[in-house]
Amino acid sequence: MSVGTEIYRKTLLTVAGNKAVENLSIRYGKKLAGKFIAGNTLEEALEEIHILNNKGIMATLDHLGEGITRLSEAALYRDEYVRLVEGIAREGVDSNVSLKPTQMGLALDPEEGYQNIRTVAAQAKSHDLFVRIDMEDSPFTQATLDIVRRLHSEGLHNTGTVLQAYLHRTEEDTRDMIREGIRLRLVKGAYKEPGSVAYQNTSEVIHQFKTMIRNHLDQGVYTAVASHDDHIINWTKQYAKDRGISPDAFEFQMLYGLRMSEQERLAKEGYRIRCYVPYGTMWYPYYTRRLAEKPANLWMVVKNMFR
Ligand code: FAD
Repeated sequence: MSVGTEIYRKTLLTVAGNKAVENLSIRYGKKLAGKFIAGNTLEEALEEIHILNNKGIMATLDHLGEGITRLSEAALYRDEYVRLVEGIAREGVDSNVSLKPTQMGLALDPEEGYQNIRTVAAQAKSHDLFVRIDMEDSPFTQATLDIVRRLHSEGLHNTGTVLQAYLHRTEEDTRDMIREGIRLRLVKGAYKEPGSVAYQNTSEVIHQFKTMIRNHLDQGVYTAVASHDDHIINWTKQYAKDRGISPDAFEFQMLYGLRMSEQERLAKEGYRIRCYVPYGTMWYPYYTRRLAEKPANLWMVVKNMFR
C-alpha cells in the first residue's frame, strides 16, 4: 500500500466516526452503498445467494449492524439472525452465517451478548450450519475469542472466528486457536488501530498473514483466506501447489460487490470460494470501511451516483 493510499485509509476511517458525515451519508448514500449490499431484506439477500451458488460460489450471510446502544436492539438482531438461519435452511442455499458480537450486545452486557450469540449458534447447529463470529476492533478481541471458546465448551463446534494479521497478538492467538480446534477466517484487519497493538506497515501485515496461512496449511488445518489481494491469493495457491496440498484444504473469501469476476474465476479453477453477503439498512459503518480499503471503490461509488 502506498503512503498516499495509507493516508486516504486513515482519513476515511476517521471520517467514518463523524456523526455529521454519517447523517449526510444515510440521507444520500443508500444508492452509493448499493454495490456492496445484497439488499435491504433477508429475502433479497437469499435471492442473491442463489445466484452466487449457481456460479459455484458459496456464501456467508451477514445482517448489517454494529455498535448498538440498547440491549433491546440486540434482541431484535438476535431474532433477525434466527430468521436468517431458518431462511438459509428453508432455501437450501450453500451459506454460512456471519455476525458481529457488538451487534448482539457484547459492549453493553457481555453475558446477555453471549446468550444472544449462543441462541443463534444453537439454532444454526440444529440445521448443521456454521456461524462465524466476525472480529471487530481491538477492545473486543479477547472477549470475542472467549465467546468462541465458551461456545465450543458448550458443544457448539459449528462456530469459529476471525484473526487479523495486523494485530501483534495474532501470532500467539493463531497457535492457540489451531491447537483448540477452532476454525478461523484470516484477514488483514479493517479497523483503525494504534501502533501499540497493530503493525502499521503493510509489509509486516503481509508477512504475518502468510505466516498464519502457512501454519494452517502445514498442519492440515482447514482455513479461510479472506482477501482481495492478488499477491496473497497467488501466494496461497502456489504454496499449496508446491506442497501437494489439495485445494479442498482451504477456501478463499471475498466481499459481495468486490472482484466478482475474480470470485467466479476462482470457482471455475476449482478453488473453494465464499462470498460475504451483507444485507440490511445499517450499512453505513460497513460501507465506509470498504471505501477506506481501496480508493478505487470511491470512484465506483461516484460513478454510481450519476447513474
Ligand atoms: P487490500 O489491502 O484492500 O488490497 C490489496 C490489493 O488487492 C490491492 O492493491 C489490489 O491489488 C488488490 N485489490 C483489492 N481490491 C481490489 C478490487 N476491488 N479490484 C481489483 N484489485 C483489488 N476485517 C476485520 O477486521 N474483521 C473481520 O471479521 C473481517 N471479515 C472479512 C470477511 C471477508 C470475507 C473479507 C474479504 C474481509 C474481511 N475483513 C474483515 C476485511 C479485511 O480485514 C480487510 O480490511 C479487507 O479484506 C482488505 O484487505 P485485502 O486483503 O482484501 O486487500
